[in-house]
Amino acid sequence: MDFALSENQKALRKTILAFAAREIAPGAEKRDATGLWDQSLWAAIGKLGILGLPVPERYGGAGADAVTTLAALEALGEGGLDTGLCVSVGAHVVLVQIPVLLYGSEAQREKYLPGLCCGDYIGAFALTEPEAGSDAAGIQTSVRREGDRYVLNGAKTFITNAPVADVLIAFATADRSRGADGISAFLVEAGTPGYSPGRKLAKMGNHASPTGEPVFDDCRLPLTALLGEEGKGFSEVAATALLWERAVFFGGLLGVLRGTLQKVLAYTRQRRQFNRPLADFQLVRGKLADMAVRIQAARMLAYHAAWCLDNAQAADLHASIAKLYTTEAAVEVLRDALEIYGGYGYMKEYPVERIYREMAVAPVGGGTSSIHRLIIANRLLKGIGLET
Ligand SMILES: Cc1cc2nc3c(=O)[nH]c(=O)nc-3n(C[C@H](O)[C@H](O)[C@H](O)COP(=O)(O)OP(=O)(O)OC[C@H]3O[C@@H](n4cnc5c(N)ncnc54)[C@H](O)[C@@H]3O)c2cc1C
Repeated sequence: MDFALSENQKALRKTILAFAAREIAPGAEKRDATGLWDQSLWAAIGKLGILGLPVPERYGGAGADAVTTLAALEALGEGGLDTGLCVSVGAHVVLVQIPVLLYGSEAQREKYLPGLCCGDYIGAFALTEPEAGSDAAGIQTSVRREGDRYVLNGAKTFITNAPVADVLIAFATADRSRGADGISAFLVEAGTPGYSPGRKLAKMGNHASPTGEPVFDDCRLPLTALLGEEGKGFSEVAATALLWERAVFFGGLLGVLRGTLQKVLAYTRQRRQFNRPLADFQLVRGKLADMAVRIQAARMLAYHAAWCLDNAQAADLHASIAKLYTTEAAVEVLRDALEIYGGYGYMKEYPVERIYREMAVAPVGGGTSSIHRLIIANRLLKGIGLET
């Protein structure tokens, strides 16, 4: 395994870092304060090619592999220091484009991917429901076939990008008694009669990323809206999206952690107490070291999981390990950052206060830490090893 970035990957990283520092970082506080969606920023991110990273060039994407996609999302987070924006970009790229690319018909790929890649369309992935979060296969949104239509009824919750989405991947069950095997995935366009983006949810943080509760009320879809095969919505479409989410999506958050560490280092050099910079105190240095170790360990786990995806290695155990470690490390890194900033860390004039709130969701979204501990233990008990 060689995780050294190629010259092309380094150049991409440099370009994205500069873009994010110039275009994203300056507005992060305002987006947090207002919660307004910045469509022109989304378009600029699309123009740079970030919204179509893993999609082949023939559909308007960059044709990047999982490792390159991870590195690019990491640079976006590092330069931009806006976790919410990373969440929206990650959902769009990883949870929407990957399933359309891997399970979409040629007509679906041609219809949706170019618009998703350039940023004309915003994508959302609608699996979670009020009564089905960790137990995602327990969804109640129903689908029935009526002639040449699928008819969806039900409601989702906590759906990233839903309030602004042009196209959603929505999951529905034809028969709840069949559990995961009853679930199919559908591509739903905004404006379809019977579909409503629902209310926008108020959150603790990540205000740059709108979260909503889409509703399907006799939402009639053409048969061509089916994504993948009937009954394979959970076992294939959702499973693949969630695998990529665990391995790649959190790259944006890793980047934010790297950028935060740089801010903290600068602060410890500049802030003086007892006539010395904070950086002189050994206990502060200990925290800096802990932050760096956690970030670097998380990065290695994430790059390894992405490498598994690129090299046709079983990735699900490694992706869960990476997701679990990265998101718990994120909370610990921000806790240390806030403590090093002291009272100023709690004030809105420094970014740590905002990023602390943003990172709080990391161990919940994409499967809670407990669920990933269960997945990891289950895999190990089934004899799946850590060799790759
Ligand atoms: C900001 C945000 C954005 C999100 N974006 C999306 C999105 O774009 N698309 C989407 O589909 N979903 C999205 N989600 C949903 C997210 O995936 C779920 O919140 C998550 O899976 C947990 O489900 P839940 O919130 O219903 O918690 P619950 O499932 O109710 O869990 C509550 C607690 O019980 C624990 N628990 C549950 N079952 C077990 C068990 N078997 N053993 C041990 N402990 C257990 C959990 O670990 C947790 O601590 C988002 C969530 C948030 C907060």
